[in-house]
Amino acid sequence: MISTHRRKFFLPCIALLHALAACGDQGLTNYQLSGPTMGTRFSVAVVTESEFDQQQLQARIHETLDDVDRRMSTYRTDSEVSKFNHSSSTDWIPVSRALCEAVDEAIELSNLTGGAFDITVGPLVDLWGFGPGDSLNEPPSDDAIAEAISRTGRVHLHANCEIPAIRKDLAGLHIDLSAYAKGLAADEIASLLDNQGIANYLVEIGGDLRARGHNASKTKWRIAIESPYQPGNAVEKIIHIHDLSVATSGDYRNFFEFEGQRYSHTIDPRTGRPVAHDLASVTVLADDAAQADALATALMVLGPEAGMVFAERQSIAAYLLLRDGSSITERMSTQFMALTDP
Ligand code: FAD
Repeated sequence: MISTHRRKFFLPCIALLHALAACGDQGLTNYQLSGPTMGTRFSVAVVTESEFDQQQLQARIHETLDDVDRRMSTYRTDSEVSKFNHSSSTDWIPVSRALCEAVDEAIELSNLTGGAFDITVGPLVDLWGFGPGDSLNEPPSDDAIAEAISRTGRVHLHANCEIPAIRKDLAGLHIDLSAYAKGLAADEIASLLDNQGIANYLVEIGGDLRARGHNASKTKWRIAIESPYQPGNAVEKIIHIHDLSVATSGDYRNFFEFEGQRYSHTIDPRTGRPVAHDLASVTVLADDAAQADALATALMVLGPEAGMVFAERQSIAAYLLLRDGSSITERMSTQFMALTDP
């Protein structure tokens, strides 16, 4: 039995290439704020010609991230999501409007993707050792997979944001917003910066990012998409963006291997098993980061063929990296090429 353990910490799937210099053109200053969050790290680059209170902004950013964590973390027992997950009630459970709207949008994205993205995969994520519990070094039994699947399904999850409240039809259903909430947190920090009148920034949380305006050199933000074979060391592609969000899902950071087969943290809700195809990573560009985050996971589940068909049908800007023996081949959707031509 050979098993390679995944790394527990989360490094961004996307490295940011932007001027770290304090000053750019025409007196523009590039401020860098960063810190730990959600088991990974955030970084915010702000480019401005006017002075602003960095301490106050850093504090507001931490408040925003703590608020998302308090609502959506499955890694803390006192979060709203954990309380909902631990409840066996099938009645309406009152929640914050923010969590209700997040669940409502996640259900819509699940319907859009035919269930490929599905936040009710929580029991399967935990069964395969990719949640807050212990990691595995070999697959669970078929019976355990069948039992976990019986507690999933977007049709069994409901949101009524008039109340606001969420409800499950199955006592054992539990939700996992890990493929959506980091993107949502990036969107919330972007709103915070917009409200402070900041017009040029790059927000990144664990590889999900949202860009607005330009960098300190008054050019588009340069984002590097890393190679799945040499994560953190080699770049597969550099794209130039402004006023867009970028999210990547991949099978090369959070996985274990057993008897030569790789089992990664993206679960196909239809099989109850980690995806098993040649896609190593999917990067999606979208207006908001929460959507990019969810759609990248959905395309990772759909795989290279069905994923690209779906991306073209929905005009999703998608960049797929496929394993091809010891090399990587890339596929770009029409929308991705349109948005990233240099
Ligand atoms: P992505 O590809 O963006 O998402 C994959 C994750 O989504 C999987 O890990 C699984 O959880 C889930 N998933 C798998 N398949 C599907 C599917 N078909 N549909 C929907 N979802 C699916 N990690 C820690 O180690 N410590 C922490 O304290 C911690 N706190 C967190 C708090 C919050 C609020 C959130 C959202 C996450 C937290 N995490 C924590 C988890 C970590 O930050 C990442 O969210 C996680 O690894 C997934 O992000 P990713 O970009 O690596 O993968």
